[in-house]
Amino acid sequence: MIVDRQGRRFRNLRISLTAACNYACTYCVADGKRLVAAEDELSADALARAVAYLIEAAGIERLRITGGEPLVSPRLEPFLQQVAGLGLQDISLTTNGQLLSRKLPALLACGIKRLNVSLDTLDPLAFRRIARGGDLSTVLAGLQDAREAGLNIKLNMVPLRGQNLDQVLPLLDYCLERGFELRFIELMRMGHLARDPQGFQRQFVGLDELLAVIGARYEYQQADAPQDATALRYEIPGRGFFGVIANESVPFCRSCSRLRLSSTGWLHGCLSSSNRHFIGDLLDKPRHQALPALQRLLVRALGDKQELAFSGGVTVMKIIGG
Ligand code: SAM
Repeated sequence: MIVDRQGRRFRNLRISLTAACNYACTYCVADGKRLVAAEDELSADALARAVAYLIEAAGIERLRITGGEPLVSPRLEPFLQQVAGLGLQDISLTTNGQLLSRKLPALLACGIKRLNVSLDTLDPLAFRRIARGGDLSTVLAGLQDAREAGLNIKLNMVPLRGQNLDQVLPLLDYCLERGFELRFIELMRMGHLARDPQGFQRQFVGLDELLAVIGARYEYQQADAPQDATALRYEIPGRGFFGVIANESVPFCRSCSRLRLSSTGWLHGCLSSSNRHFIGDLLDKPRHQALPALQRLLVRALGDKQELAFSGGVTVMKIIGG
């Protein structure tokens, strides 16, 4: 197993199935342009082989499928069918929910039990301003269908000053009433925001301010979370849980176990690093040739991790998969 000086190793793999997205969220991309040519993206077979090799070479235990928007990709079903048989402890998916109702049968058939759905507001106008695509009522219908199908659902919200801070409590209530767990994600200095410190600071809402907004309505207490969890978890007794991924306020690099693979075959060991390592050419090689080469790249990817804190990165979230 590849382990670094801080005892970190890769356990969690995030695969960006495609960089294409039907949204163009203001904090994710500067505009809605296609950033990666479709023909440069790996096939479902190659991506599934990458997962199989990474399980062996890095000890990956859990897989999250993300993007871009994974539900727009025709590779989703064949990819899921193949990775379902690889013996992973967990396979989950992050989606904006726009195509959730339509894709739900395929997700259920492939054994998906957990979803993270990104939703930044319950206000239709603010939704259009932030997402710059899609339709709020379609997402809410998808969430209702997924709930009725018995999926375990978390909602991701990025609180943004001047855009959706008034939505923290409505979204929390919406989730508590439905048994969803709301995850607030502190805005990250990624992509265009890494080059615009003032724009970032203007919109950034930190943990303390967020907890003050919630504390004005609810009594909450800190709850347990797994050792390598990225989210701080809180319980509102008798009502449910919420979490905060506080990259800036409470960095979690020391226990980070994440490895990311882009849809074009690049491994990223750290969101703060612009280093990336190409594995696309290894995926056609037989196992005995691919694995040693992969291990060498994994050592370098692990070495890319920050010691202490996220420092921002120019890679666009839509490409690397959040
Ligand atoms: N399309 C899917 C979705 O919307 O969930 C998956 C990809 S999206 C890049 C994954 C997550 O990254 C979303 O929850 C999104 O809100 C988050 N995200 C994107 N850019 C971000 C940023 N600059 N700071 C914090 N979160 C960001």
